[in-house]
Amino acid sequence: ASGYSLLRDPHHNKGLAFSEKERDAHFLRGLLPPVVVSHNLQVKKMMHNLRQYQVPLQKYMAMMDLQEMNERLFYKLLIDNVEELLPVVYTPTVGEACQKYGSIFRRPQGLFISLKEKGRILEVLKNWPQRKIQVIVVTDGERILGLGDLGCQGMGIPVGKLSLYTALGGIRPSACLPITIDVGTNNENLLNDEFYIGLRQRRATGQEYAEFMQEFMTAVKQNYGEKVLIQFEDFANHNAFDLLSKYGTSHLVFNDDIQGTASVVLAGLISALKLVGGNLAEHTFLFLGAGEAGTGIAELIALEMSKQTGAPIEESRKKIWLVDSKGLIVSSRMESLQHFKKPWAHEHEPVKELVDTVKAIKPTVLIGSSGAGRTFTKEVIEAMTSFNEKPIVLALSNPTSQSECTAEEAYKWSQGRAIFASGSPFWPVEYNGKVYLSGQANNAYIFPGLGLGLIISGAIRVHDDMLLAASEALAAEVTQENLDKGLIYPPFTNIRKISAHIAVKVAAKAYELGLATRLPQPENLIAYAESCMYSPNYRSYR
Ligand code: NAP
Ligand code: MN
Repeated sequence: ASGYSLLRDPHHNKGLAFSEKERDAHFLRGLLPPVVVSHNLQVKKMMHNLRQYQVPLQKYMAMMDLQEMNERLFYKLLIDNVEELLPVVYTPTVGEACQKYGSIFRRPQGLFISLKEKGRILEVLKNWPQRKIQVIVVTDGERILGLGDLGCQGMGIPVGKLSLYTALGGIRPSACLPITIDVGTNNENLLNDEFYIGLRQRRATGQEYAEFMQEFMTAVKQNYGEKVLIQFEDFANHNAFDLLSKYGTSHLVFNDDIQGTASVVLAGLISALKLVGGNLAEHTFLFLGAGEAGTGIAELIALEMSKQTGAPIEESRKKIWLVDSKGLIVSSRMESLQHFKKPWAHEHEPVKELVDTVKAIKPTVLIGSSGAGRTFTKEVIEAMTSFNEKPIVLALSNPTSQSECTAEEAYKWSQGRAIFASGSPFWPVEYNGKVYLSGQANNAYIFPGLGLGLIISGAIRVHDDMLLAASEALAAEVTQENLDKGLIYPPFTNIRKISAHIAVKVAAKAYELGLATRLPQPENLIAYAESCMYSPNYRSYR
C-alpha cells in the first residue's frame, strides 16, 4: 500500500511516530515532517490540546476525530487518562453529543439499521468491513441516558460503550460493532429538525417492532454465530425487559441498564456491609424508582440473599420495597402494575410520599433510581439517620442534575454517618473537619470485564450467577484503606486489572455452568485473560 493511504488508515496510522526505517519501507518520506516522536509524547501532546478546550463537547469531537485518524493513539490516551476522559467519551458528555448528533455527525462509526432495510438486515450486516465480531452494542434510541427519545441520534451510546469495552476490557476494536436500530422517533423536536439524520416517522411498535427485532436477532446469529455478545443499551423499559427475556434463552444477550447496573450496585452493597455489618438478609431495602435499574438491582439482591440463606426467592424479595411514580408498590395495586413490578407488590397499606414510606418501612438501605433529582430531601435523610447508625444511601440517577441528593447533603444531613455513593461523580466533601470521599456506581466497572469473561470462555449464554460472580470480584477489589475513607468502589486507575479479575470469575462460572465452549479450560485463567487483552501499543511495520 502507498504511504499516503497508510496515513489515512486509522488502524495502522502512527502519525509522527513512524520510525525512520518505516518511513523508508512504506513510502512515507516527505509525507511527514522530519521529526520522529514517541507514542508517549503523542499522548502528552494530545492531552495538552484537549485541556485547551473549555467546552466538553469540543473535547468529545476531538476524541472522535482522533479515533478516526489514529486508533491506537486514541486508545492509549483513553487508557492512560481514564478518569479524566471517561466523562468525555461517555456520560455525561456523550449525552450532549447524541442531542447534537445531527449537526456534529461526520463519518458513520457504526451500522444504522432502519425500517427501510426491513427484509435485508443480513445484507446490511455484510456491508460492515469486519467479519470477526465479538461484541455488538445495540440501541433503538428510545431512552438515551436520562435524556429520553433521541431516535437515530442515539448512535453515540453504542460507539461510546464499545470504546470502553476496548479501553477498559481489552476487547479488540475491530471485534466491536456499534448498531443503531431506527424504527422512528416520538421526539417532536427531532421530527421537525431539518438536520435530523433518522427516519422521519413515529416509532413502530407492537408486532411491527417485534418482527423487525426478530429479523435483526436472527441475522446477527446467522452472520456471526452464537458466541457474539449482544448488549442491549438504552431501550425504553417496556421493550427492554421483553427483549431480554425473549432472547435470553437463544442468544448471548446482556442488558447493561438492567443487569450491569444490578451487578455494580450489588458490588457496592457487599462493600458497604463490611462497614455497616450484617449480611444482606439482615437488611431492608427501599428503592425510589421501579424501572430497569430499580427492579434489576432488586432482583439481583434477592438472588444473592437466597444464595446466602437458602430461602426461596419469594421470601428474599419481601425484604425489598420499591416506590414508583404512584407511591409504594403494594399488593392492592397488583392489577394495574407492569409485569416487572408485580414481584415487588407486598402486603402493606398504600403510601404516597417518600418520607412517609421511609418512616413506615424503616429501610437500612435507600436507593434512588427514578431519574428524578432532589428527591432525597433533608427530611428523608434525617429519617434514615434516626433509626440507622450508618444509613446506606445510593443516589444513582444521572446526570448530576438528576442526582437524588448531593454527596455534601448526604453527609451533612446524616451528621457524617451516611455511607454514600452516586451514579454521577461528586468531589470530596469536608464536613466537621473530616474529608469524605464517595464512590461512583459506574457501570463501566462491570460490563467490560464481564464481556471479556464471556469472550475468553466462549460463553453462549449470560447467566445470573455470572453477574453475582462479577459483583463479588469487584467488591474484592475494594481495600480496607478505601473503606476507611468511605469508598465502597475501588479507584478507576486500576480498571484494566479489575476487568481482568472480573473476567476470570465470569469465565470460571461459565465453565462451571457448562456454558463455555472454549475447551479445554485454560489452566491459568488470569494469565490467559491478560494475554487476550488488546494493547494499544504500536506495532512495528517491517
Ligand atoms: P426507567 O426504567 O424509566 O425507570 C424509572 C422509574 O422511576 C419508574 O419506575 C418511574 O415510575 C419512577 N419514577 C420516575 N419519576 C419518579 C418520581 N418523581 N418519584 C417516584 N418514582 C419516579 O429508568 P431506569 O433505566 O431505571 O433509570 C433510572 C435512573 O437511574 C436514570 O436517571 C439513570 O440515569 C439511572 N441509572 C444509574 C445507573 C448507575 O448509577 N450506574 C445505572 C442505570 C441507571 P413509573 O414506573 O410509575 O413511571
Ligand atoms: Mn445505558
